[in-house]
Amino acid sequence: MPSIIRPFDQDVDGHTEWDGPMFKLAQRQFLNAAKVMDLDENVRDRLLFPQRSLMVSFPCRRDEYDEVETVFGYRVQHVLTMGPTKGGIRYHEDVSLGEVSALAMWMTWKCALMELPFGGAKGGIRIDPSKLSRHELQRMTRRFTMEIIDMIGPDRDIPAPDLGTNEQVMAWIMDTYSQQVGHAVPEIVTGKPVVLGGSLGRTEATGRGLIYLVCEAANHLGIDLKHSTAVVQGFGNVGSNAARFLAENGTKIVGVSDVSTGIHNPKGLELNSLHEYLDQHGVLKGFPGGQEVTNSELLELDCDILAPCALQNQISAHNAGRLKCKLLAEGANGPTSLEADQILQDNGVFVLPDILGNAGGVTVSYFEWVQDTQNFTWTLEEINNRLHKIMVGAFQRTLLRSQRDKLDMRTAALIEGIERVAKAKLLRGLFP
Ligand code: NAD
Repeated sequence: MPSIIRPFDQDVDGHTEWDGPMFKLAQRQFLNAAKVMDLDENVRDRLLFPQRSLMVSFPCRRDEYDEVETVFGYRVQHVLTMGPTKGGIRYHEDVSLGEVSALAMWMTWKCALMELPFGGAKGGIRIDPSKLSRHELQRMTRRFTMEIIDMIGPDRDIPAPDLGTNEQVMAWIMDTYSQQVGHAVPEIVTGKPVVLGGSLGRTEATGRGLIYLVCEAANHLGIDLKHSTAVVQGFGNVGSNAARFLAENGTKIVGVSDVSTGIHNPKGLELNSLHEYLDQHGVLKGFPGGQEVTNSELLELDCDILAPCALQNQISAHNAGRLKCKLLAEGANGPTSLEADQILQDNGVFVLPDILGNAGGVTVSYFEWVQDTQNFTWTLEEINNRLHKIMVGAFQRTLLRSQRDKLDMRTAALIEGIERVAKAKLLRGLFP
């Protein structure tokens, strides 16, 4: 039958409402995997775009009482088939509908790969949070929560922290939501402070999960972590915890960075001194324990393990050929382009792809939601044991598929996730 819609371009070069380089990357990765796995065309087209997207603009009153700025916020739910949707809230000056939609799509594959009962979502506000006072940040967070309140809910869509947000922001979201419904609803967000129903181990879960996988991958590749070196890009939640757990495994951290600079010391960096310096100065620039390098130089340093844990779009065709690492452990979402993937594969670099690498965060977020909905608390030991089991299980499934079907780890991980979602979609059928 002739199509009732104007057909969109399957090569995703055409323009859509969600346009943007990151969404194109997410779509291209998906279409690649869909082709390899011979995914049903109807399901493929359904999954290529988010199911719900909300874009809001709202006023943010600055501390100077007479100044009001209009800011833009987003919440996108990619797939509603699997259960409530789940995904972080990002505060960054580059946030756009396309970026949030890409992150929501990756959340769908990530949750499915980890066999969690969630679809993917993501949200954010296009601001630089470092330029706002604590009061401004709180007012903006509360107003944003009100703007998206009809879309979120403990059985609908559960936000969590991401780049530029933290447990304090989650506490304000939880409080705003609870004020509206008239009683405390801790399960509306995850990644909140433990006294408000947060889970033990959530703060460090993404970094911890990444290093559980690094241990598995090192074992597979015959790398001895005790005699290895690592470079970590980004020294926020994910990066600083990844560096900590790597160091606990005996790996020497020879380079770290943040938005201000990179720091290199081939003899090894003292992590406690880095934290003390950050506490005092707010940024790494000027840290005396190493030599300053740029963020792009940092990626090309000599090391066994490279962990990009900052932003997307860091490893491209331009620099992929110059990476020296044997293992690329993606803590950040979308750090590597498709063209770079091919170069890394040709050069024999083993990749722990983002949807697997940073899934420890959403896994412990799931534990937090389960504990909150049951009014029950688990010990840190229970949480870490469960996290370890889930991470290692997903790693083994991905590795097995990659070896069996001769695929790179990213495609294998994507197919693991997509297959589960496609199966659920077909079983639920169409309404009406
Ligand atoms: P964060 O805000 O705690 O830390 C981000 C770090 O990156 C900071 O050190 C910042 O200075 C640095 N940075 C910012 N811009 C940079 C630039 N241009 N170059 C180099 N460094 C820069 O954020 P986070 O929560 O650690 O998130 C980092 C990445 O991990 C993001 O891609 C996020 O989507 C992903 N992630 C986070 C979680 C989580 O639980 N927090 C879970 C899954 C994925």
